[in-house]
Amino acid sequence: MTEEIDIADPIRTRGILERYGLNAKKSLGQNFLTRPQILKDIVSAAEISEADDVIEVGPGIGALTEQLARHAHHVLAFEIDDNLLNVLDETLAPYQNITIINGDILQVDLPKVVSEELDGKHTLKVVANLPYYITTPILKGLLQSPLTLDQIVVMMQKEVADRLNAVPGTKAYGSLSVAVQLEMNVNVEFEVPKTAFVPQPKVDSAIVKLTHREPREVQPYSKDAFFKTVHGCFAHRRKTLWNNLVGIYGKDDETKAKLEAVLAKLEIKPGVRPERLTVDDFVRLTNELK
Ligand code: SAM
Repeated sequence: MTEEIDIADPIRTRGILERYGLNAKKSLGQNFLTRPQILKDIVSAAEISEADDVIEVGPGIGALTEQLARHAHHVLAFEIDDNLLNVLDETLAPYQNITIINGDILQVDLPKVVSEELDGKHTLKVVANLPYYITTPILKGLLQSPLTLDQIVVMMQKEVADRLNAVPGTKAYGSLSVAVQLEMNVNVEFEVPKTAFVPQPKVDSAIVKLTHREPREVQPYSKDAFFKTVHGCFAHRRKTLWNNLVGIYGKDDETKAKLEAVLAKLEIKPGVRPERLTVDDFVRLTNELK
């Protein structure tokens, strides 16, 4: 087996950046993880084996990529910063099972790249230390992607992890919680202190594992419509569900009568706040509002 390099050592990380004349870019969410044990724990949490191909978002200088490559069949990593490509060429040189794509994960045609670069015979997982400034769009993109993803194991700000995992009626519960929990089980695997990164972010982080939950008894007729309903209902958190709904659908008498009928049928009180509704409530609401 290839000899392990352990790229993620704080001194080594600073040394590599210095040697290439690079400063971590705040605007790209560049906080490099510098604890070898945490990288190994992430790979364990994702249960990576030779049976898996892994998509990584933002390999940075390759610390997590190396650990993934040591266990997976193949790693397909998307890095937006072209200044890091030479670094990755050097740090990951010993590994033959890594493809680095220079591009923006929010812009690439992921299913197309996956079909071009991977053999389609392995289980597909996403494992990443996400760039925090785009955690939500990345997650929403992955959840809406036509790819069959076995699981998603990602590092994010602890506060966002709490939102993903939140239950109805709590402050953290919102459109992101509902969007993710529609089809996924959310498990916060472990927390990571800010001191584990170079440079240090302002907040602590957590590793979250998303796996597919049993299909719900009632499914939304369209996921797109579901996400739009949820987004609309949470547009103004402090307003009642009723006020959010008339904000989306209109205030004319006919619309109001229809909305009243829908809420009555679902036995949802118009005066509740949106955060009181369960995921199943949002599914039923979406279907009745069709
Ligand atoms: N994986 C490395 C680690 O764990 O140390 C770096 C993680 S760092 C938090 C986030 C990485 O995502 C950076 O390398 C950054 O350049 C990259 N990145 C930021 N925005 C991106 C985007 N839109 N598409 C792809 N990569 C992006």
